[in-house]
Amino acid sequence: MNIENKKILDQVSDSAKATTDRQDAPAVAKAMAGTAKSKKSKKILVTGGAGFLGSNLCRKLLELGHQVIAVDNLSTGRLDNIQDLTQNKNFSFIKHDIIYPINLEANLNIANLNIDWIFNFACPASPPAYQSDPIQTIKTSFLGMLNMLEIAKNNNARIMQASTSEVYGDPEEHPQKETYWGHVNPIGIRSCYDEGKRSAESLIFDYHRAYKTDIKVIRIFNTYGPGMDPLDGRVVSNFIIQALNNQPITMYGDGKQTRSFCYVDDLINGIIKMMQTDYGITGPVNLGNPKEFTLLELAQKVLNLTGCKSKIIFEQLPQDDPKRRRPDITLAKQLLDWNPEITLDVGLEKTIKYFDNLIKS
Ligand code: UDP
Repeated sequence: MNIENKKILDQVSDSAKATTDRQDAPAVAKAMAGTAKSKKSKKILVTGGAGFLGSNLCRKLLELGHQVIAVDNLSTGRLDNIQDLTQNKNFSFIKHDIIYPINLEANLNIANLNIDWIFNFACPASPPAYQSDPIQTIKTSFLGMLNMLEIAKNNNARIMQASTSEVYGDPEEHPQKETYWGHVNPIGIRSCYDEGKRSAESLIFDYHRAYKTDIKVIRIFNTYGPGMDPLDGRVVSNFIIQALNNQPITMYGDGKQTRSFCYVDDLINGIIKMMQTDYGITGPVNLGNPKEFTLLELAQKVLNLTGCKSKIIFEQLPQDDPKRRRPDITLAKQLLDWNPEITLDVGLEKTIKYFDNLIKS
């Protein structure tokens, strides 16, 4: 896996070079050129397109017949995630950090690209990843949002911001509704992400008010499934990998804190449904699975499904770790007719298979 990854990484050295290195530029230009905004097939920019959610989203959009440009700086995104997409003539990839403006036309060698939709999904999302370079994290959230909003404004494009349940912080209201303003420590170690995402929400709504930009904001709750980074330190990936390797399960705190886990396919369906809503339906809308589990329950499920006999070891709870989290998805149900369908057991089985293959490869 790593050797393959490195081979591609070596080819993709900067944003200007990336697309032409990996794809035939005239073919990309031909595929991308001349699609009217009213047509069913859209020209879509996905930032964070090599990440866990971004890559699953790109795959689904291509399946639906759209043309997709993925942008990623590969800080936490992985080329392995999009390897299967690179042969598709409707897909192109640009290595770029969205804290800097990007000229898509120049990168793709196309005049008048006319982007229809932008999904802004670029940002490290696991606590260890976003805390490893907190200044970069907050820049990605705010400057990345700003740069993407400028593209949306100039292209008259619709833009979706991937916001997060972290805007609710360690919530005092349970379950969390979109009307709840949250309980965030503004100077803590999670605030680079929490406040970064909050500032991005603020900015996108100001573009909507000032320029009538067509915006959509979703707040994503804990999501898991194939495409997760095995090393990003999230609870689902950690527990599964530990169980598959017969290592102890690392429980932070007493394991009584709760999370609600949504399988990635359910989430992607909700994201696309939200993007298809009319102008003026801005959100924010919560997207997540409302079934709540303690982490002890999650660990037990992973142990049962893997048949692993490892012990659970208890470690210190990280600072500002939310005690409870569960989305109220009434709004998503009403607005999008959306309801997650995949149970935790079924989703975990699929995810265990994915990690098992990854470990063996
Ligand atoms: N967690 C844990 N063991 C791990 C990784 C995480 O007990 O190996 C806990 C973490 O402290 C938090 C929950 O699992 O209470 C979810 O953590 P994650 O990093 O997946 O995402 P979060 O919901 O905190 O953003």
